[in-house]
Amino acid sequence: MSRNSPDNSTENPFQSPAAAPADYAVRGPGVCPYCGAADFVRPYFTHWGGYIGPWLLTHAVCRRCDRGFNVRRGTSNLINIILYQIASILLVGLATAAAAWYFLPGWRNWL
Ligand SMILES: [Zn+2]
Repeated sequence: MSRNSPDNSTENPFQSPAAAPADYAVRGPGVCPYCGAADFVRPYFTHWGGYIGPWLLTHAVCRRCDRGFNVRRGTSNLINIILYQIASILLVGLATAAAAWYFLPGWRNWL
């Protein structure tokens, strides 16, 4: 795991916010991978994950560049969010099918 690159001083509180690098780089836990700031908020609700999703994926939103990332790993959360969406859609679909199987009497005779 390449967490610490030697030339990234991320914790300098006196550096200009305008001089933020725009490239994506994993800088370690608690540091935004897009701009390198260690200033973030943990949203308790997001449109993609409701109340459980951001807690489950340790999602954080950078206060300097307003982009979301995984605060525990310091990486992008995009793939995790896509997997979370697929898994929750599958879960709701299977639960609906199981409920229909048990509670709708006609379905059992079709199969
Ligand atoms: Zn940022």
